[in-house]
Amino acid sequence: MLHQAHFHCYQFGAIGSVITHEIGHGFDVEGRKYDKSGNWNLWWTNKSIEAFLDGKRTLRENIADNGGVSISLKALKSYQAKKRRDEYAFKSNTVEDRLFFLAYAQSHCSKDTPEALYERIRSGFHSPDKYRVNGVLSNFKQFSEAFSCSAKSAMNPPNKCTIW
Ligand SMILES: [Zn+2]
Repeated sequence: MLHQAHFHCYQFGAIGSVITHEIGHGFDVEGRKYDKSGNWNLWWTNKSIEAFLDGKRTLRENIADNGGVSISLKALKSYQAKKRRDEYAFKSNTVEDRLFFLAYAQSHCSKDTPEALYERIRSGFHSPDKYRVNGVLSNFKQFSEAFSCSAKSAMNPPNKCTIW
């Protein structure tokens, strides 16, 4: 059973990553076209537009997935630092990081029929859930440290992609 003191790790990993994923869309190739009030306003500089990645169909969602986990993990660390100061010392960052990543993975737990998977790959904007989890988490040094992934593990590639 999940100890109450660790429940926040789960919340940041699951719903925190979803919320920050959606916020991240506000700064992608479509979201950039709207200002802070939701009005059509091309507020990015040309330099930012040229530097921003665009291209493949799932790219926006892949970036939002990576950014969502990254920002939510930073929020968890900020929350932990405040809690550590105010209330109690955490026993283990490793356990808490594992819970965070596990919660993210479980939030994408699914089982597709072959037909649904084919349709998703053919026309979907989101990558199959297996890749939304493994692809994203393999980009986090904190993940490979929390689960002691070897340098040869597919979940711990030498080149990690970080945008946010
Ligand atoms: Zn999205």
